[in-house]
Amino acid sequence: TFENVSKTYNVGDSEVTALDHVSFSIEDESVTVILGPSGSGKSTMLNLIGGMDRASSGCIRVSDTDISKLNEFELTEYRRKKIGFVFQFYNLIPSLNALENVSIVAKMTPHSFDAKEMIRSVGLEDRCQHFPDELSGGEMQRLSIARAICKNPDILLCDEPTGALDSATGRSVLQLLTDMARKYNKTVIIVTHNASIALCANEVIHLKDGRIEFSEKNEKPLKVDEVNW
Ligand code: ATP
Ligand code: MG
Repeated sequence: TFENVSKTYNVGDSEVTALDHVSFSIEDESVTVILGPSGSGKSTMLNLIGGMDRASSGCIRVSDTDISKLNEFELTEYRRKKIGFVFQFYNLIPSLNALENVSIVAKMTPHSFDAKEMIRSVGLEDRCQHFPDELSGGEMQRLSIARAICKNPDILLCDEPTGALDSATGRSVLQLLTDMARKYNKTVIIVTHNASIALCANEVIHLKDGRIEFSEKNEKPLKVDEVNW
């Protein structure tokens, strides 16, 4: 839940308002899509939810915790235990192979899933020894989904997860993401420019100039294979 959240960045003498008094709530274990033009504050919103950055004002509650009140140590713990991140350009560690990329994260949290099992779930069991530059874009994104889910976070934050992929691969990655989220009961928040993805979400938030222009609930989200891309 965001209550009256604003975020301003100071660069030199100027100030940019990235989020401007934003309030909304999203449900546990739902899929939410955030849509909006470039610069509208989408990534800023994800970074605040994920505790990567702090709001300038307002309150952000996740379950019963007001994360805006956490100290640095508590915020790091929150991010480590509760949040999984999937990025547009994967952010895998180039010097580690596929299995190591997942297991290094699994080792950091107490209730993580088995790294090999996760890699199997995303269909990469025969790519464990491959380094990221020996994988296709779709494979790298599947690996990064395995990495994000293996530490068993409550919330999966995805910033343009299909933005670097062709539409067929993007679709299969989205299918995997929603399947995995459902299987492991995750709350998923996806930032995208692709309005088709919004049809598969339980709720869509439209951002413009740092404000929520409108949001809509989808009573009957489509399955990924029902959407025309
Ligand atoms: P895109 O679709 O291009 O990724 P976005 O909706 O994710 O855009 P944000 O990255 O949230 O947009 O940026 C919102 C505004 O805040 C932009 O005007 C941007 O220039 C500014 N901004 C973002 N990050 C910073 C930063 N670290 N320092 C200063 N200004 C920033
Ligand atoms: Mg962005």
